[in-house]
Amino acid sequence: MDAGGLVNIHSIIPVSRVNGPGARMVVFFQGCSRGCAGCFNPATHAFGAGELVRVDEIFDAHACGAVEGVTLSGGEPFDQPAALLEVLGRARALKLSTVVYTGFELVELEHDPVRAPSLELVDVLVAGAYEEGLAEPTRLARGSTNQILHFLTERYSLDDFYMPGRVEVVISEDGIVTGTGFSRVPVQRVL
Ligand code: SF4
Repeated sequence: MDAGGLVNIHSIIPVSRVNGPGARMVVFFQGCSRGCAGCFNPATHAFGAGELVRVDEIFDAHACGAVEGVTLSGGEPFDQPAALLEVLGRARALKLSTVVYTGFELVELEHDPVRAPSLELVDVLVAGAYEEGLAEPTRLARGSTNQILHFLTERYSLDDFYMPGRVEVVISEDGIVTGTGFSRVPVQRVL
């Protein structure tokens, strides 16, 4: 599912404050093999869609000086293991913290020789399938209460994952309105 040094992305939010601690660039990977019922991001599931970009393009095109880290979501980042490893390595080289949302359980990733190397570069892994009937009721940054926040380094703690709100609306320069966070909001093109 990897495309030779490229990463297949659905979209990027240059700065968000509801997808992990502080100000973060959010990269939504395109493609997901997990199939959680009620998923918030069904448009990210198809592997044949999205945009292939080089990893350095992601970091060069956005104001990484304005963020303390990157959050990788999707889609399923671990379905592009080589690209994920490269994105995480680039973030680490830039001293950006790393948060990854995945539908896999940590133990599954630890026992997968292709996917496990990325774990060395993750500060916080939010792991587990989205469960529609277990929606997170608080401002903790996860979709459902079964998902586990694994603090793989000492950079963050649970307190850092209580967000200032559950949802954020982003308006891009070309007028695309995007809702992000852990509640659904209706969005539309306004320009
Ligand atoms: S892993 Fe994430 S993107 Fe994939 S179906 Fe589950 S919630 Fe949706």
